[in-house]
Amino acid sequence: MESILLLAHTEGDGSVGKAALEALTAALALGDGIAVGLVGAQVQAAAGQAAGAGAARVLAVAGEAFAAPRYATDAAAAEAICRAAGASIVLAPHTSRWARALPGVAYRLGGRLDTHVAGVSNAADAPAVTRWFYRQRMEAVLTREQRPWFLLLDGGCSAAWSGAVAEPKIEFVEVAAPATRTSVTGVQAPKADEQTIRPDAKLLFVAGAGWTKKQADGAVHVPEAQSLILGFLRTSQASLGGSKSLVDLSGEGQAVLPFMTHLNQIGQTGATPRHPKGLSTCCHGEEPHVVGWRFVTERRAVNLDANCGWARGKADVVYVADAFAVMRELNRLVSA
Ligand SMILES: Cc1cc2nc3c(=O)[nH]c(=O)nc-3n(C[C@H](O)[C@H](O)[C@H](O)COP(=O)(O)OP(=O)(O)OC[C@H]3O[C@@H](n4cnc5c(N)ncnc54)[C@H](O)[C@@H]3O)c2cc1C
Repeated sequence: MESILLLAHTEGDGSVGKAALEALTAALALGDGIAVGLVGAQVQAAAGQAAGAGAARVLAVAGEAFAAPRYATDAAAAEAICRAAGASIVLAPHTSRWARALPGVAYRLGGRLDTHVAGVSNAADAPAVTRWFYRQRMEAVLTREQRPWFLLLDGGCSAAWSGAVAEPKIEFVEVAAPATRTSVTGVQAPKADEQTIRPDAKLLFVAGAGWTKKQADGAVHVPEAQSLILGFLRTSQASLGGSKSLVDLSGEGQAVLPFMTHLNQIGQTGATPRHPKGLSTCCHGEEPHVVGWRFVTERRAVNLDANCGWARGKADVVYVADAFAVMRELNRLVSA
């Protein structure tokens, strides 16, 4: 019989974010009587969520020293919680914070860790996880003998837990904050409306290199491309993806869309986001790009070329049309 621990770090208000609530759903599917371990400045709201979900134990390392993401403090807190819980399976959301700290914790405890877990199951009390390999082309089912087994669960793979909170009984685990070399002086982040990567958006909007190419009149129209794309993102709140050719252009000294970076790249050497719908524009739909659409459920593309890759079974709908004209009209409709 496995004992299961869900690890989560808390947000500024003491609750946990969507990724942790998704991991909570996955942990509950693994077995009854799970323990939840919380790390953060405050943990009260998250502990209420854990108790509401039916956690048998709620353990916490709380305090200002554990508020900021930092390897030394996160690893110390997670190690102490894991030792106190004595769990054989430790599940955590695949946040950058846990991805950095938990491999070291697994090493300290003599365990093993698997990243990018896409699903967990516990058929016949034999835990197994699914994970994609070779850039999401093959899905494998893994089991392991080694315990504790740490699992970092990818976002968007489980429904986020929601339910009534309950009065928690928190077991605080005392941890002396380790000496640190870094101190956090503040956070610098782009304004929310400048942030173009929105993992929770319903729509992925992809721009390809065609936006920067010569059009029918023999000229490039980059400023118009920029205003059409940004206008659409503003009104639709879609997430922005790009093809490799487009995001590489800045390094080639060509006309570029300045808001497009390598972080936006979708594909084999880019990201594989999970969105219910995707709209590709001015992008040819070559395999190394489309492999990044593995988890996009409904795909549409706008391309001048009726022979583009999308038209070869890679999209549900292809509009053979000028994306400038389509997006002009779409923006008019959306803002109306
Ligand atoms: C090892 C390897 C890894 C790679 N990894 C990736 C990856 O991760 N992601 C990725 O994207 N690519 C990747 N590539 C590159 C990939 O093969 C393609 O070269 C790239 O995706 C092409 O980008 P694109 O479709 O935007 O550009 P292009 O091939 O230049 O296509 C532009 C398209 O725009 C269309 N167009 C032009 N004007 C308009 C208009 N007005 N209206 C509508 N359509 C218009 C054209 O018809 C054309 O189809 C990889 C390649 C290799 C070899």
